[in-house]
Amino acid sequence: MFLDYNVSTDLIDVRKVCTGVMTTACPQLEFVQLVRKIRKAFKRHHIDLEIHSKLVPKLLLNEFYVNAYYCQVDDKNNECAIELVVYHNIKSDTIFAAEQIGQFLVQIYDAVVHEFRHRYQGRRRNFKCVHRDVDTNNTMSYLSDPDEVDAYALSISIELIRHLGKARSVQYLHRASRLAKIRPKGLYASVTLFHYFRLFDDEYSPVIRKLIKKVYLHLLTLDETAIFY
Ligand SMILES: [Zn+2]
Repeated sequence: MFLDYNVSTDLIDVRKVCTGVMTTACPQLEFVQLVRKIRKAFKRHHIDLEIHSKLVPKLLLNEFYVNAYYCQVDDKNNECAIELVVYHNIKSDTIFAAEQIGQFLVQIYDAVVHEFRHRYQGRRRNFKCVHRDVDTNNTMSYLSDPDEVDAYALSISIELIRHLGKARSVQYLHRASRLAKIRPKGLYASVTLFHYFRLFDDEYSPVIRKLIKKVYLHLLTLDETAIFY
């Protein structure tokens, strides 16, 4: 099963959900209805995940971010194993226009495909528990975890293709430290790559080397049309 596992297949499924929501939600929709619509769309595509939203008053008005979690034990027991939490400070009747709907869906897409990668890792090792010395309160320790390096390599490849296209991403990856800093149209080509370099700050650190190698392989094999823009 895993020998012919194709990452792009998972991505295409999530992209379908996001493009479907994008088409039907535009030109505008209330925030609370948008979340409801996304939830229903995943269900309709038989993608089992939970989406919760949490109001965080200390965030800036209309700010939001998405966190996601995969639980190997739930997956093993055939229970819903992926949870998304939308942290926000948005009034439920706030109207989202096309641009915000798109930005929101990009975050949803990125979070889901990242967790799909963790799901793949769990299933590939037959849900065997791996105990590693990861300090989740320490970003460096967390980002060095082999599972995270593997999942973030996929996230970085997606961000790069989205902002630069495949050919330029492959070309620029040879100077990864510089690539981490470039900001076409004012946004980082890959904000995740930027975070890795800011923390490890060394092109020759074992974590960065492993990461870049994996990003490179994804860039070569990922199907550009599987990515949600
Ligand atoms: Zn992760």
